[in-house]
Amino acid sequence: MPIKLEVSDIHKRFGDVEVLKGVSLQAASGDVLTLIGASGSGKSTFLRCINLLEQPNQGSIKLDGEALRLVPDRDGTLKAADSRQLAAMRARLTMVFQHFNLWAHMTVTENVIEAPMHVLGLSKAEATERAETYLNRVGVWHRRDLYPAHLSGGEQQRVAIARALAMQPEVMLFDEPTSALDPELVGEVLRVMRGLAEEGRTMIIVTHEMEFAREVSNKTLFLHKGMVEESGHPSEVLARPQSPRLQQFLSSGL
Ligand code: ADP
Ligand code: MG
Repeated sequence: MPIKLEVSDIHKRFGDVEVLKGVSLQAASGDVLTLIGASGSGKSTFLRCINLLEQPNQGSIKLDGEALRLVPDRDGTLKAADSRQLAAMRARLTMVFQHFNLWAHMTVTENVIEAPMHVLGLSKAEATERAETYLNRVGVWHRRDLYPAHLSGGEQQRVAIARALAMQPEVMLFDEPTSALDPELVGEVLRVMRGLAEEGRTMIIVTHEMEFAREVSNKTLFLHKGMVEESGHPSEVLARPQSPRLQQFLSSGL
């Protein structure tokens, strides 16, 4: 499979602290990568650098071989040279957040049709048709006219996944999509994600769900203090960790 996403040598500093010290990953079409590591190891920052929600100090991002053009910003970080290229890349690389980030003042349907209309230029009718497809897909179509506050956390996260799917992205990024959920709601979100993985979607998932990582991903990267300490097939990395830090992380039950 050709390389879909190639992220190379990402460095990120906050003040004097370098929280990413040269992190890279490659995802071929259909790869499901899981990113694991202790809290504070840099997982979210790395994921956010991939679509420039966070501006790295160094590094490169390529989608289908096309490099995101970056230029120095005033603070020494890198910003997009061309905002239209960035917008186009973000539409192809959608993100699902830990805290759902739905728009509170919009109904479920309005949340899902917003970006397809305003970023992709779909008509309201076309976007609503897409919303129906993907809200059905994640099992929340019956909730379409409600506001997010009236939904359970699991339903809100499934709406957020439908919103990402409605962009028909090439790569989906997930930042701990189940860690803000009550334990009894985790399963319904993981089930949806397992289905997406089985469809052959390219996904990069930050997760603490080790069993899920083992089942759905074909590569796991262990991040420790801003560096990839160990990576490989989850059956190796999770079952036979080599580095003492990964051994400690896995046995701590996090
Ligand atoms: P993880 O997602 O693995 O828990 P993060 O990427 O959120 O880790 O954070 C990595 C480190 O960067 C932490 O020490 C965190 O405090 C720091 N950090 C994250 N975001 C910021 C920020 N906006 N400003 C300053 N420090 C930050
Ligand atoms: Mg995080």
